[in-house]
Amino acid sequence: MRYSRMLIPTVKEVPADAEITSHRLMIRAGLMRKLASGTYTYLPLGWRALQKVIDIVREEMNKAGAQEILMPAVQPIGLWQKTGRDVDYGQTMAKFTDRHGRENVLAPTAEEVVTSVAAGEISSYKQLPMNIYQISFKFRDEFRPRFGVLRSREFIMKDSYSFHADDESLDETYKIMYDTYCRIFKRCGLDYVIVEAESGEMGGSGSHQFTVPCESGEDIIIYTRDGSYAANLEKAAVDPLPKEKPDPKTPSMQDVHTPNIGSIEAVCAFLKTQPKDMIKTLIYTAGDEVVAAIVRGDHDLNQEKLTQALGGKHAELADEAAIEKVTGAKVGFAGPMGLAEKVDLMVIDHAIAAMAVGVTGANKTDYHTKNVVPGRDFPLEGENVTVADIRNAVEGDTRGGKKLMFRKGIEVGQVFKLGTKYSEKLGAKFLDENGTEKTCTMGCYGIGINRILASAIELGNDDNGIIWPISIAPFEVLVTSVNQDDKKVAQVAEKIYQQLLDSGIDVLLDDRDLRGGVKFKDADLIGIPVRVTVGKKAVAGGNVEIKLRAESQSKKVPIEKATDKTIELVNSLKKQLELKCGS
Ligand code: ATP
Ligand code: MG
Repeated sequence: MRYSRMLIPTVKEVPADAEITSHRLMIRAGLMRKLASGTYTYLPLGWRALQKVIDIVREEMNKAGAQEILMPAVQPIGLWQKTGRDVDYGQTMAKFTDRHGRENVLAPTAEEVVTSVAAGEISSYKQLPMNIYQISFKFRDEFRPRFGVLRSREFIMKDSYSFHADDESLDETYKIMYDTYCRIFKRCGLDYVIVEAESGEMGGSGSHQFTVPCESGEDIIIYTRDGSYAANLEKAAVDPLPKEKPDPKTPSMQDVHTPNIGSIEAVCAFLKTQPKDMIKTLIYTAGDEVVAAIVRGDHDLNQEKLTQALGGKHAELADEAAIEKVTGAKVGFAGPMGLAEKVDLMVIDHAIAAMAVGVTGANKTDYHTKNVVPGRDFPLEGENVTVADIRNAVEGDTRGGKKLMFRKGIEVGQVFKLGTKYSEKLGAKFLDENGTEKTCTMGCYGIGINRILASAIELGNDDNGIIWPISIAPFEVLVTSVNQDDKKVAQVAEKIYQQLLDSGIDVLLDDRDLRGGVKFKDADLIGIPVRVTVGKKAVAGGNVEIKLRAESQSKKVPIEKATDKTIELVNSLKKQLELKCGS
């Protein structure tokens, strides 16, 4: 390809909403342009890189024995109602009503569709195991699309689904997919960690998440220094805190007037107390049920853990009217006293049960209550009261007595053992050797294609631009004709370019009629891994310069050896990634 004929609109300025490096560089290097919040157009360079990621994913999936299919993005909501996920996905699910009044879902994932396909097509154990995948657009009406393609409303996902006669077979395929993911991410040049994860809305019994550690990540990886434990924030379980010594002399509860002071910070300032001594009461709805979740003022409720505590039921924060109805007070003044009788279920975090005394909302607008003793002033057990781990781990927490450490990361993929949640509800059954009807056991495996690209840029960049891993770079080699107006220079550049093309190298020729400085700046920005620079002076001496984007020094190479030397460098960069895959 010739730079002069390509749309590579590099820019100096970046939009204000580009908060992280990869987002800024994807705009600056002309890889993509924003259409609306969370939707992007991939321009030629971006699309080339993305396609290389797709090629790697496809190759490895095929190698693992999975078969590619393509499912529709428009799916009838009725299918989702069968599994209850129309509710579980909440507002993240994008929907539209068609002209006939039928409600449709824009695929956020495809368990329901694939299981209904399996229900129709699988009849015998002889067809199992079966692993099918697709690479297609997914839609999620994210609450806060941000960080460019890391959290967008429309993205490309590779999603695969496996069907099995028994758990043993699922375990085998799960392991194959796990290993396949390792190969995919290594081939894409990513350093990643694998953590235990919660299966969330997916349901099921086991899950691992593949996460690229980096500061721009929205995920939190929690681990012990000895490496014996690594999980994401949703999953990481914490040891219960040691019980504070109760003071038998704690006076009885006392209401205090706190006019218009509803937030934890404001109450603390007003009552001269600390968030850790506050008892926070959150009202949720789970289907028809009202749930009160009680956590310490300095702790965050963990949605996934709450789901677990509710036996897998997804809960959403109740709206203002529902909160007022339950507590009898405006939002900000809820407390656990007397609440067990008013809600269907009260889930209390361990840390609250360990507290000697605290401050909480009085269930009366503009009032808080002091001297609240858990267990004395509200129950810690009962028919509809449970104590559970429902908060996020924080600095200082331990697991199995070991200190927990924290690190940010980008989730690029996740694998799940689903069990029979979908197959049971959608009737994916088969006849076993004895002719007995059984339900398929399932696994599912997702990869965020766009996130791989952004993560690679997060890991590979410097002040001047992107440093691509060769496997997913938009081009492997950039030949820069520094003085395009010089016939000899243009000729040498053209020749090397043609020879590289003939050798199957993915090469871009910068044949633009621009100053060398501009070309070098663009070269750094778009980050093509191997660079051949053809300039007047060097050519006069019979040489060109060859340089890796990742290194600062260039090497003089005789013109006639330039092509071979370049190919050698490309191969050695590729080899480095391949070697990683063997490890
Ligand atoms: P997250 O927790 O970040 O919202 P998720 O766990 O909901 O992601 P999955 O349902 O596991 O995502 O989807 C599989 C993969 O799709 C993820 O591992 C991620 O790489 C990618 N992905 C999910 N949501 C988005 C998004 N909004 N934008 C880009 N990629 C996404
Ligand atoms: Mg996930």
